[in-house]
Amino acid sequence: MWVLGVTGGIGSGKTTVTDLFASYGIKVVDADVVARHIMDQGSPALKAVEERYGTQALQADGSLNRAWLREKIFQEPAEKDWLNALTHPLIREQLIEQLQQADSPYVILSAPLLVENNLTRFCDRVLVVDVSPDTQRERTAKRDNVSAAQVEQIIKAQAPREKRLAAADDIINNDGAINDLTPQVAKLHQQYLNLAAAAEA
Ligand code: ATP
Repeated sequence: MWVLGVTGGIGSGKTTVTDLFASYGIKVVDADVVARHIMDQGSPALKAVEERYGTQALQADGSLNRAWLREKIFQEPAEKDWLNALTHPLIREQLIEQLQQADSPYVILSAPLLVENNLTRFCDRVLVVDVSPDTQRERTAKRDNVSAAQVEQIIKAQAPREKRLAAADDIINNDGAINDLTPQVAKLHQQYLNLAAAAEA
């Protein structure tokens, strides 16, 4: 299966762009969605979390208390390492399975931390959705209704713009209007169809 990795910083427009590819029938595997499902109720990963932290890590209904866990690993970096060691192999396994099951001419792996988590190794090509820092801050604050300080914190935890761009084979600039994306995606889609077909031949 020919895999296109799509990444970009928070609020850059990854979802907006991958929705356009999906409108051409391209299957999109979203690493964030997979990561969330790893901790579903009854999962081995949730069981391991409960064994380590007790019921304080759970909500009353037995599901994961995500806010509690986020705070825990923010306060204690060693716990973040433990959690990553638990979840990353499970996430990778799921991602690979879903990529292999895709039945479109090529498949997209969409991940905010594609570069940071070295998921580029599963990709035949990498597309970065890029915006200026000002656009990024403005759109994120507007969409998530969060403070400027919170946006800064998230941006700092992600790879710097230059590092992401260095991993790119293709770049879509999304500082303009949403409508500007359509022709850019149409052109890239055609290119990816050709590359995927050539790889299969
Ligand atoms: P995250 O990583 O935070 O999930 P994302 O990269 O998937 O973000 P989107 O959710 O696609 O980004 O876009 C962020 C916000 O900006 C959304 O509210 C979206 O509707 C808006 N947006 C995306 N592109 C444009 C554009 N060209 N003009 C104006 N608004 C845009």
